[in-house]
Amino acid sequence: MENIMTQINIGVVGCGGRMGQSLIGAILDQKNVNLSGGTERHDSPVIGQKICHPETGSKTDLLITDNAENLFKISDIVIDFTCPTATVLHAGYAAKHNTIHIIGTTGMTAEDEKALVKAAKSVPIVYASNFSLGVNLLFYLTRKTAQMLDEDYDIEILEMHHRHKVDSPSGTALSLGKEAALGRHVKLDLVTDNVRDGITGERKRGNIGFAALRGGNIAGEHTVSFIGDNERIELSHKAGNRSIFARGAVKAALWATGQKAGIYNMFDVLGLPKE
Ligand code: NAD
Repeated sequence: MENIMTQINIGVVGCGGRMGQSLIGAILDQKNVNLSGGTERHDSPVIGQKICHPETGSKTDLLITDNAENLFKISDIVIDFTCPTATVLHAGYAAKHNTIHIIGTTGMTAEDEKALVKAAKSVPIVYASNFSLGVNLLFYLTRKTAQMLDEDYDIEILEMHHRHKVDSPSGTALSLGKEAALGRHVKLDLVTDNVRDGITGERKRGNIGFAALRGGNIAGEHTVSFIGDNERIELSHKAGNRSIFARGAVKAALWATGQKAGIYNMFDVLGLPKE
């Protein structure tokens, strides 16, 4: 017989969103995990509705509320793919109620990230711009390739996402840029080149360029190109759908239950080398 006592309670803030829905599906499909609830913005039309499995449509007895603090209070772990202002508020609840916080929200400022670091003094937080195994491998390969090739190879990062995405370049593209900069022992801020419009002048040697395309329902595609004279190396990842991020976030949630307070990323969860 299944032992209910060993089940881990996981809540989802922003459960009506694209990632929120995918997370609900991943949690309901996962053994030994209990969905503790879901929240949405107070003005969302889904408040008061029953949480359903996004694919099978099967209903749970849980109603969507706007009470994020209560969700943190009753959950062991809360997964958060919302927006920066909400995530900063949620990190405060995580610290107050000693709840593990898994954060996939992108577009966070340095100031927002300070709030996460503060909360991580009391609880484990896993914060990652991309929760897929493949993209984290791409981060690693990007750093290693940048280490091996000198500035004769121009680094350009191209990302494509669905038409509803609000931030640009994507958090993943920026993380790829950081990994490339790390490989070259430079600071990304000093070499970043992400707006090209009009008479820009020639490309500056050593810069890392970004370009973003938006359209349709693309879940996320990233290519890092190392462009030399007469040759080009391309490292690419294409996400088929959002389930890869949701499954990665659930994996991170289960991993974090055994960790001390602190801020972690998917390299920690997957055991990828940091050097
Ligand atoms: P979305 O707009 O579909 O979903 C966000 C949801 O959060 C919405 O339903 C919104 O109503 C809700 N929300 C906003 N404020 C809230 C609050 N205070 N309380 C409760 N709910 C609130 O967006 P999405 O495509 O699901 O993406 C969400 C975030 O996740 C974005 O920042 C996106 O870039 C990021 N993302 C990260 C990864 C990753 O692997 N790290 C992958 C995909 C998307």
